[in-house]
Amino acid sequence: MNIVIFGAPGSGKGTQSERLIERYGLHHISTGELLRDHIARETELGKVADAFISKGNLIPDELMLDILEHELDAHPDAKGVIFDGFPRTIPQAEALNKMLEKRGTKVHAVVGLEVPEEELTRRLLKRGIDSGRSDDNAQTIAKRLDVYRRQTEPLKEYYNSRQAYHPINGSGDIDTIFNDITRIADSLA
Ligand code: ATP
Ligand code: MG
Repeated sequence: MNIVIFGAPGSGKGTQSERLIERYGLHHISTGELLRDHIARETELGKVADAFISKGNLIPDELMLDILEHELDAHPDAKGVIFDGFPRTIPQAEALNKMLEKRGTKVHAVVGLEVPEEELTRRLLKRGIDSGRSDDNAQTIAKRLDVYRRQTEPLKEYYNSRQAYHPINGSGDIDTIFNDITRIADSLA
């Protein structure tokens, strides 16, 4: 079972992914966390990634896809994957289809956490107070939301036309949202 947790910055992808891996024993791939780990370790890749992330931009598809494929190969026995923060562009989604196809599997569902923009901004500003993240400040948040609208949001239509998009209300309380996600996940089994 491969599930994509989809949504704007601050929509709660990380929070819900943590719970999902616990419930279903899936492998969690958070591209944001992978990149932040490189930045913290000051690797070459981390230096490149930091320049994009701190400005609120996406890192280039080629680079992101290399990291993703490497991560899939590192966990060949995973019984399924929660993709968190990936794909974020149409080319990434197409590449993901090919990578999974090559491994005899596919994306089973894309769960969209839908949250109004004012609430996203509020959450991200709040997180910025103690996250220490270079991209959780007012200016970068506005840029990330703009990038989301232009480059990432079109994926809803991409997956909807493939009968894989499942929107859910992402602004309620954490337990209610999790329940809605498990209902979708359980219907796949
Ligand atoms: P959330 O709060 O819902 O977990 P987020 O947008 O705050 O989402 P991450 O998913 O952790 O945070 O991503 C942080 C940054 O890492 C992005 O703004 C982007 O620069 C980079 N990044 C993460 N995933 C990708 C990707 N698939 N393609 C390109 N860049 C990415
Ligand atoms: Mg995250």
